[in-house]
Formats: sequence, structure tokens, C-alpha cells
Amino acid sequence: MEKMDLIPMSEWGLGLGDTMNISGPCSAETAEQVMETAQGVTKHEVDVLRAGIWKPRTRPNSFEGVGSVGLKWLKDAGEATGKPVCTEVANVKHVYEALRTGIDILWVGARTTTNPFAVQEIADALEGVNIPVMVKNPVNPDLELWIGAMERLYKSGINKIAAIHRGFSTYGPSKYRNEPQWEIPIELRRRMPDLPIICDPSHISGKRELLQSVSQKALDLNFDGLMIESHPNPDKALSDARQQVTPVRLGEILESLVHRNPNSADPQLSNKLEMFRERIDEIDENLIRMLADRMDVVKKIGQFKKDNNITILQTSRWNEIIQERLALSGPLGISNDIMVEILQMIHKESIRQQTAVMNAVESK
Ligand code: PEP
Ligand code: MN
Repeated sequence: MEKMDLIPMSEWGLGLGDTMNISGPCSAETAEQVMETAQGVTKHEVDVLRAGIWKPRTRPNSFEGVGSVGLKWLKDAGEATGKPVCTEVANVKHVYEALRTGIDILWVGARTTTNPFAVQEIADALEGVNIPVMVKNPVNPDLELWIGAMERLYKSGINKIAAIHRGFSTYGPSKYRNEPQWEIPIELRRRMPDLPIICDPSHISGKRELLQSVSQKALDLNFDGLMIESHPNPDKALSDARQQVTPVRLGEILESLVHRNPNSADPQLSNKLEMFRERIDEIDENLIRMLADRMDVVKKIGQFKKDNNITILQTSRWNEIIQERLALSGPLGISNDIMVEILQMIHKESIRQQTAVMNAVESK
């Protein structure tokens, strides 16, 4: 698809600058709860109010949202505080009801983004409507699917688009509710430099204690804003209780964040940074040459194993490599997880190269 020509947030007509902080409850529960949250969070640097009206829950019999009545509570809270409001839409009915109530920004949730049929239906319903739409990453780590959802909206004429990074689901134990896999939004930024990317630390963290550090990391990666869930009484929230914070705590988190500059205006500082970068370039070049040297040796081993009829994989040798390398890398400050990942990638390529040598058709 051709490049998307997007309208910057500051021209969305919602009084936004170049960044956008969003807060409000995971779910609208009562008119009072939405209003109280809105009045609390707008004392801080919050530009847009959120509330979920229809909640996509993993299992039935959990609270699935108050439904359409909540739209008016959200809109009223926006009017009382002078802020635009946003909510999640997952089907055509949601779109029509949200538009009818005058919701200012829509978002497509992580479960919906995974489904091109659902996204296309929403995009078709929005044809000719001038409203900003935010697209959460799909629950699975698939950048193309994420971009595809935004392209579907763009093809329907939506040109006020932002992405929301809310992390990716994993199976098994993790510090996070949804793994951030920061390399994915970083690649999205590289591919679509004009697209605002908002971080949702609440759904990444799954618990309040991590909100501050995930938010700071997002700012340090030049994200364009944060979406953080808030509730007057988080422990009693009907959804996502563990990750919601009071408006007061939200204020503390926002105030604690350090806003650093993407580029330094001071030429002396830029020079220093340039020097570090040159050094990194040099080290990367060495790494590449050393990897190539390693692969040459691997090919020789492949030939040796072939000539002597030995199999490629010797598990004991592979275990020994991992143990010895970790003993070296750990004290040098490289985390074991990362080192194992790097070794596995190198090993994968070694096996591929050896297999190619062993199974090469001999020329007569
Ligand atoms: C939400 O924002 O409350 C929500 C349901 O998010 P996600 O689609 O990221 O799970
Ligand atoms: Mn939530």
C-alpha cells in the first residue's frame, strides 16, 4: 500500500499538542464513578478521558461492561472537564452508538485487531466519518497485522490514526501481563515515522507497581503519550482491578516521569553522542566480521563431520557451550536470558550452514 498521509494529533481539532495522555477507568461502572475519575485525573496532565463500555473478557460470566448507557456518562464527564473522550469499538453497532453519542476518538481493541474481518467491518462503518481512531496492537506479536488494521481504516478515509502499544500475550510465567516486546513498536516507528504511538502501561504491566517504570521506558523510546487506567477505588474495580490506580496516584506517576529530549540542541552534547555512536558502529562491524569468521570455521567442521560420518548435533557439546559462555557473560553484566537467546540464534545458523555443507550435491 502507498504511504499513509496522516494528520498530526495537533490538527485533530481536539485541543491536543504533539503528545496525548489518556486516562480513565478500564470500564465505566456508574455515572458517578466515571465523573469522579474524570474530575480527579484532569487535575493532572491528562488530555483525553477513556472508559470501556463493552468489555472483551477472556471468560464469560465476568463483567462485560455496562453497555450503551455508559456512553452518556463518559460524554458528560468529558463535557464537565472540557476534555475529549474515547472508547473501544469492536463491531458496527458499537461504532454507530459511539458516533451517535458524540464520542471524540474511537479505539480498536487488541482482540479485534487480530481479526481482519472485524476490522474491515469497522472500517466500512466509518467510511466518510471524520473521527480519529486508535489501533491497539494485536494480542499476538504480528506487526503486519497491526499495520494492516491501520491500512484498512486509512482506505476508508480515516486519516487521524494513532497506534497503541499494549503488549503481547505470552503463555507461561512473565513479569508482565503482556510482554512489551519493545522492538515491535520501535520497528513500527521506523516503518511509519509520522504515526503517533501511545503506550498503554496498564495492560502491559497488569499490576500497579510496574506502571512507573514501563511509562518511563516508553518516554525514553520517544512514545507520543500514555494511556493509563484509573479508578476512584481500584481494588473494587469490576475489571482489571490490579492495574488501576487512583487519580492521585496517577498524578504522582505522571509527575515522576523524566521527559528527555530525542535530540540534544547543545552541539557539545551532540558531538559526544556522535562519538559514542561511532564507537558502536565500529563494534558492530567487528561483531559482524567475527560472526563471519565463526561461520567459516563452522563450515570446516561441517566438512570434517561429513568426511568422517559424524552427525551435526552433539548435545553435550551444545550444553557445554551454553554453560561456558554464560560463565563468561554473566560477570560482564550480560543477562543470561539475552545471552542464551543470542547463542541459540548463532547455533541455529551454524546448524543451517553445516546441513548445507553435508547435503551439498558433490560435483564430479
Ligand atoms: C482496555 O483498554 O481496557 C482493553 C480491553 O484493552 P486491550 O484491548 O488492550 O486488551
Ligand atoms: Mn482494562
